[in-house]
Amino acid sequence: MRLLRTIVLSLLTLAQLALCAEDYYKVLGLNKQATEKQIKSAYRQLSKRYHPDKNPNDPTAHDKFVQVSEAYEALSDAESRQIYDQYGHEGLQQHKQQRGGGGGGHHDPFDLFSRFFGGGGHFGNQPGQRRGHNVEIKVTVPLRDFYNGATTEFQWNKQEICEECEGTGAADRVVHACPVCNGRGVRTVRQQLAPGMITQVQMQCDACGGRGKSIKHRCPVCEGQRVVRKPTTVTLTVQRGMADGTRIAYENEADASPDYVAGDLIVTLVEKEPSLEGEDNPDRVDGVFFRRKGDDLFWREVLSLREALLGDWTRNLTHLDGHIVRLGRKRGEVVQPNHVETVPGEGMPKWHEDGDSVYHKTEFGNLYVEYVVVLPDQMDSGMEKELWALFQKWRAKKGVDLHKDSGRPEKPVMHDEHEHEHEHEEL
Ligand SMILES: [Zn+2]
Ligand SMILES: [Zn+2]
Repeated sequence: MRLLRTIVLSLLTLAQLALCAEDYYKVLGLNKQATEKQIKSAYRQLSKRYHPDKNPNDPTAHDKFVQVSEAYEALSDAESRQIYDQYGHEGLQQHKQQRGGGGGGHHDPFDLFSRFFGGGGHFGNQPGQRRGHNVEIKVTVPLRDFYNGATTEFQWNKQEICEECEGTGAADRVVHACPVCNGRGVRTVRQQLAPGMITQVQMQCDACGGRGKSIKHRCPVCEGQRVVRKPTTVTLTVQRGMADGTRIAYENEADASPDYVAGDLIVTLVEKEPSLEGEDNPDRVDGVFFRRKGDDLFWREVLSLREALLGDWTRNLTHLDGHIVRLGRKRGEVVQPNHVETVPGEGMPKWHEDGDSVYHKTEFGNLYVEYVVVLPDQMDSGMEKELWALFQKWRAKKGVDLHKDSGRPEKPVMHDEHEHEHEHEEL
């Protein structure tokens, strides 16, 4: 009986252990082939999502936040990742103990967070916590990507917390209290205004610029600035049917600094000017001729005189995803110049927040095709004679009255005098 209890107990302990030691890749939502960049990006997203400041009513968020930091720390370092891949959690624990002299000392997860987003590892709701400016960026997107949806990348020059010195500005990452102001950032200066009248003025410490901190050796990478500006790649997801001018906010992804919490990076999608040539349009999709207005698309199609008058023609439009839209008329069907045909369902996909869900049915706007009829500049003289004769014959047969045919009114509408005046004017 006692033995059984022991077994049950140890089983429970094992289960608990297993709970604590969840697979680091799973924690970050990645698989073992994940790249360094993917690991970083997963940390950026998940650490923000589970940050306790953002989840004041969810007690499990803190644990998840710690797990995400642990997973990132284990996988972001090439050596520890290799050990983890080979020997798992226990191997990593042993490695840490050997190196750090016992006590699997984790970094403070808030420190890690502040290395990514600045500030004190918290969002700007602490008193005195400053927030950086938002950064606005325009990204041009071809119409094709608005139609099909796309995941692309863009680069911008972002200020980041120096990784070399972890935002301390010091080569040894050690920050001392400023010896001039004793870390207070201000100096008290006594001033004599008049004999016997002395006042004390507080001035910013010029030795440390008011920060109250000093370093012995400047970090060689940021030269003591604590931040560096470098090209940063951001992944951009354009959802099907998003409007031209859509604004997408990346929370706390603007310029980072140890002094403040990073503001938001705000990306505005702008439709790219179409171009026939170039790597932008490898399949040379007819897309360059589509024009978008909200959820609808516009297209201009050219017909010859014969086609407009006699029918019996077809056109295959290659749509923005490569599917074919067939236009055409049977013999005898006339198309008037500048006629606009509505093709329902061949416009843009209508954007919907559940657009990517399998349960969401995508609806489309209309395609409007405007027909332009082109008359020949000059006709072959033989053809002209035959056509002329044909029309003459047709008129004679129908007894066409030339005056009637001209479309002018039967009787003069205006009075004689007026007509007189009119003639005068024309002279
Ligand atoms: Zn100072
Ligand atoms: Zn540095």
